Order: sequence, then structure tokens, then C-alpha cells
Amino acid sequence: MTAPALNTSHSQAIFGAAQALMPGGVSSPVRAFKSVGGQPIVFDRVKGPYAWDVDGNKYIDYIGSWGPAICGHAHPEVIAALQEAIEKGTSFGAPCALENTLAEMVIDAVPSVEMVRFVNSGTEACMAVLRLMRAYTGRDKVIKFEGCYHGHADMFLVKAGSGVATLGLPDSPGVPRSTTANTLTAPYNDLEAVKALFAENPDAISGVILEPIVGNAGFIQPEPGFLEGLRELTKENGALLVFDEVMTGFRISYGGAQAHFGVTPDLTTMGKVIGGGLPVGAYGGRADIMGMVAPAGPMYQAGTLSGNPLAMTAGIKTLELLKQPGTYEKLTATTQKLVAGIKDAAQSAGMPITAASVSAMFGFFLCEGPVRNFEEAKSTDSECFGKLHRAMLERGIYLAPSAFEAGFTSLAHSDADIEATINAFRESFAAVA
Ligand SMILES: *Cc1c(COP(=O)(O)O)cnc(C)c1O
Repeated sequence: MTAPALNTSHSQAIFGAAQALMPGGVSSPVRAFKSVGGQPIVFDRVKGPYAWDVDGNKYIDYIGSWGPAICGHAHPEVIAALQEAIEKGTSFGAPCALENTLAEMVIDAVPSVEMVRFVNSGTEACMAVLRLMRAYTGRDKVIKFEGCYHGHADMFLVKAGSGVATLGLPDSPGVPRSTTANTLTAPYNDLEAVKALFAENPDAISGVILEPIVGNAGFIQPEPGFLEGLRELTKENGALLVFDEVMTGFRISYGGAQAHFGVTPDLTTMGKVIGGGLPVGAYGGRADIMGMVAPAGPMYQAGTLSGNPLAMTAGIKTLELLKQPGTYEKLTATTQKLVAGIKDAAQSAGMPITAASVSAMFGFFLCEGPVRNFEEAKSTDSECFGKLHRAMLERGIYLAPSAFEAGFTSLAHSDADIEATINAFRESFAAVA
């Protein structure tokens, strides 16, 4: 069952040239395929569930631009709305009514959010929320979890999962020790460790930030009671609970992971889906806390392009599409079918596997499982994952180029796409087993 040879000569030429122009040839590290080996594919265009590379090869895409493409790439209604909006200009640097529209949609959808501030990326949202946590509590320390990624701000580059894990940088040079001294880490799903950190640092911890479902250490779900336990512990200790829903917001459900699990944090960060493919991030939460943010309050945070009409338009249209009845049921059914097929394909090839999904987010590890934290995720066979990734690519399936990333489905993935993907998994598992 050998796959037809993939001609990627144009991709190789462009990526070769890129390496002299940009560090590693990319604008963001994981795109360079370092952890799976081989050359990255250079895309030419995307539509629905598909991507086409510069050599004309077509792929079924399970990255979706790392999350935003939940309605499918280049959705005709999003494109039409953008075309109309662009005629009125790309950026105002002044208030625009579209900000109200998207803010109302976010406040209506996300249980914890009473007020919201728009920024331009998930990183920016997480940086700002951390400042807000400190400003509101008057405390400097923060607890994060090993393998959770909250963007690339200094304070968060400690055991940060995802691209950082993939590159084997437990930390990054250039991050002062004095900065990360205030970042405390605990293993995911370990309430006792969090309890101990609160006991060791009385009245010093501003709050706990986490991915309510982890997508940056592979796909890891919170065990029953974990999120509830964090809610209680933070309350008891006068600290804030922050859900980083940059990945899970509007993906796990219309109200995010917090609506799915019924646990309401004090503050929430968002990104990815909320921008519908344009650069948007947001942070929001309780009105009394958000009242600290300038100019309502003293905590400074600003952005030249924040809330620009193009980005707001893509976000509004994407949320309108997601709000329609049956959306998340469809996403769930699509993803469950895929995951069942992946499990069956691995088992038929005699490969160990653990796989799961919630709504339009899924993942698998090449081990028996369960995988509850980053330590366990790292113990899985990443060399085998690299071979599997390459085998899938040769069969026209574009998976995240790292064992430490979740996968994403979209409303555009049809039954036929899922069946083709499962077939490719069957052949690929058999090829690498
Ligand atoms: C992607 C991501 C970020 C960073 O967002 P960018 O837009 O890439 O800066 C932060 N937190 C989580 C959970 C993410 O998945």
C-alpha cells in the first residue's frame, strides 16, 4: 500500500529560499515541521476542508489555520461580508459600531464574560489578562500548568507545551529569571499540587490560568472534579480563575469549554475562532474586574489595530454561522466518526492508541493511555508519530506536524472526507507499524 509519490518541488524551492529570508523559513516555529521531519508544504489556497499546495496537491486539512477555520476555510458568507466591509476601509483607529456587535455576541455566548476588550492575538489577550490578574489582586504570582500554552509572553514561557515542547526548549533564552520567578507550575489534573502551591505562597498568588481542555500538549481533557476543584481553591484563596479559551472558545461549544463543563471562571481569554481567520484576540470577564482596564480604570493596555472593522466583520459572520441550530451536534458527530475510525485503524495494525474528542477538537497518542498530563504525553513515541505524519501527508491528509497539538474539524468536513481520511489512516498505520 504505497502512496503515489508526492511532487512537492515548488514547495521545496520556496521553503529553501525562505530560510535565508526568515529565521527557520517561517513566521511561526511549528510550521517548519521540525518535530516530524521532512519539508513543510507551502500552501497556495484554501477552501472548505481543503488546502492546495503550490505544486497543485490537494489535502484534507485538520489544522484549519490552527483553529479559526471552524466553518471551513474561506466560507462564502465570511468572504462576502469582508468584501463589503473592506470598501469602507480596513482600520479606523477610532470606535466602530461593529465592535459593539461582536462584544454583545461574546457577552451573550460566554458565561463568564460581562465585558470584553478586543486585541489582535491570543498572545496579547493572555499577556493582558495576566496584568489584569495582578492589578486586581495586588499579587504578583500566577499558577500555570505544565504543557499549557498561553502565547509567547515571557511570564508564560515555562513548561509551555506545543511549539516550545516540540523544539525541546523547556524555557527560552531571553526570558529573565526574575520574570519567571513569579510563574508557578503544576502538573495538569493535579489538584493536590495546586493546593500545595497556595499553601506555600500565602496571599501571593493572583490566580490560576489554564486551558480548560488542553490542546497544546496533545489533546488532554480535565478529569471530573478538576475544574470544579480549581474554582473552589481559587475562591478560598482570594485568587482569580482564568480559562484560556483561545483554542476552545466557540469550538467546544458556542459558550466555550466553560459552558460545556458548567464551571465559570472569573476571566477568559479568546482568539482563533473569534477572528474567523483574521487576527483577533479578546479577554473578558466580571465587570468589576474589567473595570480596572484603561481608560475605565488604571491598568494600561492598548492596540493600534485592535477592534478594526475587517477583523470584527470576520468574527461576527463566523459566530453567526456557528450560532445556527445543530452546528455543534454536526461537529461532534463528524469528529466522533473520525476518532472511532482512527482507533479502529490503529488497532487493526496492532498499534497502541488512545484517542478522544470533544465537539470539533480531537487528538490521539500512540500509547495505551490514559494521558492525563504533559509528562505522560511526552512519554509517547514521537518518532513513530513523525513517520505516521509523513505517510498521511503522502496520502493527502494534512495533520498538525507535532504529536503535541490537537486536531480540528470543521463544518465543511463531509462524511466522504472523513471516510477518505480513515482509509488513509488504515494504510498509514499499516505502513509504519
Ligand atoms: C494559540 C493559543 C494561544 C496564542 O494565540 P496566538 O494568536 O497564536 O498568539 C494562547 N493560548 C492558547 C490556549 C492557544 O491555543
